[in-house]
Amino acid sequence: MTHKAFQQLADIYTTMDKAWDMTASQYGFQCKGCEDNCCTSLFFHHTFVEKAFLIHGFEQLAPDIKKEVRTKAMIYYQKTFPDGQMPTSQKLMCPLNQDGRCLVYGYRPMICRLHGLPHELHKPGSAPFKGPGCPAGKFNEAPYIPFDRTPFYKGMATVEMKFRQRTGKTEKIKETVAQMILF
Ligand code: SF4
Repeated sequence: MTHKAFQQLADIYTTMDKAWDMTASQYGFQCKGCEDNCCTSLFFHHTFVEKAFLIHGFEQLAPDIKKEVRTKAMIYYQKTFPDGQMPTSQKLMCPLNQDGRCLVYGYRPMICRLHGLPHELHKPGSAPFKGPGCPAGKFNEAPYIPFDRTPFYKGMATVEMKFRQRTGKTEKIKETVAQMILF
């Protein structure tokens, strides 16, 4: 059951990684890490299937690394979600980033994969949303190269729907990586 969902998810990830790489190379952009590291962004993830896949990757880490990551995740969670207050970005490093490297690179969620490039998103009944790229890319100095996230979001919604049908999940999910690891 889970294996099939993970394969479907891996297929979507492969498609978006290829599209991202192709567009980035057209810009001549290479992500080499920078001061404004996107792993310090307050990203929320909205699918149970991605959470299950991320945890599957996390479980393969060595026990001492997992313990260290859980400790970092708790600190991240407590600072980002102070009691009774709305979460605010503290620009904290994701607990899964170790020395600039993602410990679960092959299992990282969609938003981690799509971040960085200028993009568009089309929703029925709304004007197209246009998102800027990361500052490091200096994309405002180059003509926009179309990068449409819509098919990836749609594909993800389909995989998530099937995963929910199989697992009986009905509630919404909106979690940071720290929450995914802890809860
Ligand atoms: S999961 Fe990996 S790529 Fe995503 S924010 Fe954390 S360290 Fe960065």
